[in-house]
Amino acid sequence: MIVLVVNCGSSSVKIDILESETGDRIFRAKAQRIGTQLCQIRIDDWTLPLPGADHEKAIETIFQQTSLEGVTAVGHRVVHGGEKFSAPIRIDETVERSIEELIPLAPLHNPANLAGIRAARKHLPDRPHVAVFDTAFHHTLPRCARTYAIAKDLREKHGIRRYGFHGTSHRWVARRAADFLHEDLRNLRLITCHLGNGCSITAVEHGRSVETSMGMSPLEGLVMGTRCGDIDPGVLLTLQRHAGLTVDELDHLLNKESGLLGLSGISNDMRDIEQRAAEGDESCQLAIRVFCHRLLKYIGAYIAVMEGVDAIIFTAGIGENSASVREQVCQHLGFFGARLHEERNREASVDRLKPVALISTDHSQTRLLVVATDEAHAITRETEEVLK
Ligand code: ADP
Repeated sequence: MIVLVVNCGSSSVKIDILESETGDRIFRAKAQRIGTQLCQIRIDDWTLPLPGADHEKAIETIFQQTSLEGVTAVGHRVVHGGEKFSAPIRIDETVERSIEELIPLAPLHNPANLAGIRAARKHLPDRPHVAVFDTAFHHTLPRCARTYAIAKDLREKHGIRRYGFHGTSHRWVARRAADFLHEDLRNLRLITCHLGNGCSITAVEHGRSVETSMGMSPLEGLVMGTRCGDIDPGVLLTLQRHAGLTVDELDHLLNKESGLLGLSGISNDMRDIEQRAAEGDESCQLAIRVFCHRLLKYIGAYIAVMEGVDAIIFTAGIGENSASVREQVCQHLGFFGARLHEERNREASVDRLKPVALISTDHSQTRLLVVATDEAHAITRETEEVLK
């Protein structure tokens, strides 16, 4: 099946056309800085300026650059599926309305996702469209893991609970790991660490997500590129009371100016931070230590939650590429029998054709793996599953 994948962020649009079985890419385009005068589309090495374009204009322009004739279906990444969507679903008016109703839960993401759905349905009205939710994989979180310790009436009135995100990636890499280990996913306890610009970690027990670090929003949990992850809620009260920050300023601070960027003071990009740390920059050294410490703390917690772990998986930009981050975390995991193979770790390299690399020693009780994530390919597969 040939699937067109639409992934709209608040200021970007990614369009991929893939063959669902093989994952072969037929077309790829990206529009950045949507809504600004600097908006532009990139297709391979070619750039087209599109000042002031919104999501619809960007999608329409991208669609004009390629033939859509062979496209069988369209898969849309939707960040928040709330309580309602526990699996991907074919989009109709009712589904569209439900995604709209979820905007209060994901004010940064769902409006963009919806704009993408509307534009693509307008241009390809005769193809089936499927919504694939970041939250869906985490619908299996047990009550004790998804409930915040605040009053029930508030929780119920405002949909306040832990939902979890990056589900498509966690599910995808868990499956690739099980294939690699020649095991049934239902017999495994896995910890999947998705370390990209956004970072989250999930405990996957017998194929089901039983704990995950992102919560009601993608702000909770690990240190990320620009998001702070876990922070004492008291800090937010202090920033409001004593630093005079408004709600919107707090929102911006926690989502866009914190994490690796806030810690390092120079960049949200781990490559820059690793380079400056190696040159002796203390803020960058601390940024890496805080990042790795938080990750290690979660891994320990998830081992306890599942009463053990068979494999720990590193994925996404940092997880797949930073041997140094993996080493700094894994060197503390010997206490339960996970042994990093230093050379395998340094030389690990994954891609679509060779998506898994083993980085533990042959005698390690717990396997350590690097797995390539591919959210666009995962969305094509989920789209196909729905339509079958
Ligand atoms: P997104 O969440 O935007 O999809 P990615 O999965 O591409 O992000 O991850 C981006 C992160 O991966 C950035 O912090 C980037 O610095 C990091 N990264 C990519 N390549 C490397 C590398 N070789 N070494 C260290 N970090 C890397």
